Amino acid sequence: MIRYSLQCSQGHEFEDWFSNSADYDEKAAAGSLKCPECGDLQVSKAIMAPSVGKSKSSAPAMPSCAMGGGCMGGGCGFGS
Ligand SMILES: [Zn+2]
Repeated sequence: MIRYSLQCSQGHEFEDWFSNSADYDEKAAAGSLKCPECGDLQVSKAIMAPSVGKSKSSAPAMPSCAMGGGCMGGGCGFGS
């Protein structure tokens, strides 16, 4: 299951669950997506909120020991 943030042409944002992206495409193509607030059928995917740690390779989750594991006990300052 995948959750998409959707937005109608009136600017209402809501969320809906789909089996996969193809499921969304099918429902969008069939016009079965409807804004729960105003009933607008002009619904498109909104910009999704950034999900944590999805594809951010530029920011390492943990600093690695600069000594390559040879500091033995946190002497490098990164702790043990
Ligand atoms: Zn709406």
